[in-house]
Amino acid sequence: MQSKRFAIRKPSLHPPIDPENEFQQIELIGKPYLTKQRHHLCKVGSAVHNNHIRLWSYEQWQSKKSDPEMDAWGMPYDVVLVENALGSVCCSGCHSAGINTQSLSDLVVAIEFINTNGELQTVCDYEELKLAQYTIPQGWLNDKATLKSIVANFGLIGVVTSLVLRLDELSYALLQPKRVPILSTIPPKKLDDAPDFFASQKSSSTDLIKAKDNFIKICESDYYAEFFYFPYQQDAIVNTWDNSGSFNDSIPSPIQAHDLEQNVLTYFVYLITPVLSKLLSQEEVAKLFAELTNKVFYQPEQPVCIPITEAMHFQRGVHNIPVTIMEMNIAIPTMDDGSLDWAVAWDIWWRAMTLIYSQAKGKQALQTTMEVRITGGSEVALSPLYGSKACFAIEILGNLQVPKKQWIEFMQSVLNQWLSVRDSQGNPIQVRPHWNKQWRELKFNGLSGIDYMASVYSEQIQLFLAGLERIAMEGGYSTEETQQLFSNPTFDKIIFGNS
Ligand SMILES: Cc1cc2nc3c(=O)[nH]c(=O)nc-3n(C[C@H](O)[C@H](O)[C@H](O)COP(=O)(O)OP(=O)(O)OC[C@H]3O[C@@H](n4cnc5c(N)ncnc54)[C@H](O)[C@@H]3O)c2cc1C
Repeated sequence: MQSKRFAIRKPSLHPPIDPENEFQQIELIGKPYLTKQRHHLCKVGSAVHNNHIRLWSYEQWQSKKSDPEMDAWGMPYDVVLVENALGSVCCSGCHSAGINTQSLSDLVVAIEFINTNGELQTVCDYEELKLAQYTIPQGWLNDKATLKSIVANFGLIGVVTSLVLRLDELSYALLQPKRVPILSTIPPKKLDDAPDFFASQKSSSTDLIKAKDNFIKICESDYYAEFFYFPYQQDAIVNTWDNSGSFNDSIPSPIQAHDLEQNVLTYFVYLITPVLSKLLSQEEVAKLFAELTNKVFYQPEQPVCIPITEAMHFQRGVHNIPVTIMEMNIAIPTMDDGSLDWAVAWDIWWRAMTLIYSQAKGKQALQTTMEVRITGGSEVALSPLYGSKACFAIEILGNLQVPKKQWIEFMQSVLNQWLSVRDSQGNPIQVRPHWNKQWRELKFNGLSGIDYMASVYSEQIQLFLAGLERIAMEGGYSTEETQQLFSNPTFDKIIFGNS
């Protein structure tokens, strides 16, 4: 209840861990172990927020500064907001950024939940627990395939109470978000694909070949890769970094100091946006917002070496601004020679850019930003990244002042463009909606949002249902009882195939 009140209050402050709350425990279990790098398993309650685990890692980094022999552990990747609970981001297939990152659900090595019978049930990947020399408690179901099938579950298996996560030894980001002319950031396939708003960049003979090489290099090798674009700007904000910084060079996180400032500013934006939207046109509001963002955006002159757990949450206060969002996770196709077809990404990006600049005079549905993150694939059944080699996780964000009809029409026009992109062989591309964002009110080549989800995730849903069957058998209940207890009309249709 306390957390809930904090979450809905504006400005909302980060609630500290409640030591009395068993769903907010953070506990290292087993011993450190080595795969490609050092890991430690960590049991977290499902109500632990990203901010709790971020601070927990930061405190270890601070202790290590006094005693460099000490270990420090952290999430290898995470969603942007520090306000989200780990139970939710790990149970709904959320993602971070970076081609070597998977979904948050992929970090889960064991999941504990209250099942249909009201009993605690746990499914785990024992191979990983064994590496950590952790003795599997009695009653845990050791079945990696079932774990991967049911870990992204949206509460359909029951109420998740805790998770065992695979953490990494802290590494250090060389963080330097910066503004770069857009044509040199995410290049169009050909200059003609860029709207006339970018005429000056088009005529200044931007070196597209160099820009494309650079884009591919960033996407295929940077630890973290994220790009933002605010309308009526010539520049994109490029937030890509490597984690090759050294512990010795790492400094106290400047992000901590910006936290309050960014929270105050975003709260201020939240307060003035409705007023401005009455006085100004949408185009003027979007311009103002973009210019304000450019002023307050954290843009250090030199790369800053800080723990990656700080770098991946470098933007704070975002939760203060309520937004509307459509996000599609689009698989980057693989070409015959095994390389990734990034031309698809350029096509997707510039089709949306063309629509941003073709709205009626004074109108601008994209009141905030268009953002893209590069991710790897996932082994988790219901993750949008499942089975892909790389994904282009692209989203457009409006705000609550944009009339609903206008926003839906804009999302639909962008979606139509994305659905009509073809790979180099002329085949349709794989477009999977992010479960937690807007898709219900959209049409996908004539299919309703619900029918499209059932169709585009159909193979994955079969895996999920097989996992559900397995845990039901183990727990002594039926999947029908589980559906009755934990499903809702939307999931009845998408997952359980009820018409
Ligand atoms: C500005 C913004 C930025 C975002 N950035 C990202 C991002 O970087 N990457 C990304 O992938 N997503 C992103 N999202 C989406 C966001 O991370 C998810 O919607 C997240 O799940 C919300 O967290 P919450 O704690 O508020 O979840 P809640 O709304 O509390 O829960 C979301 C869902 O998770 C499931 N769930 C929650 N708790 C449990 C439990 N104990 N047991 C079983 N199931 C449970 C339920 O299905 C629930 O409906 C962003 C959203 C916004 C608005």
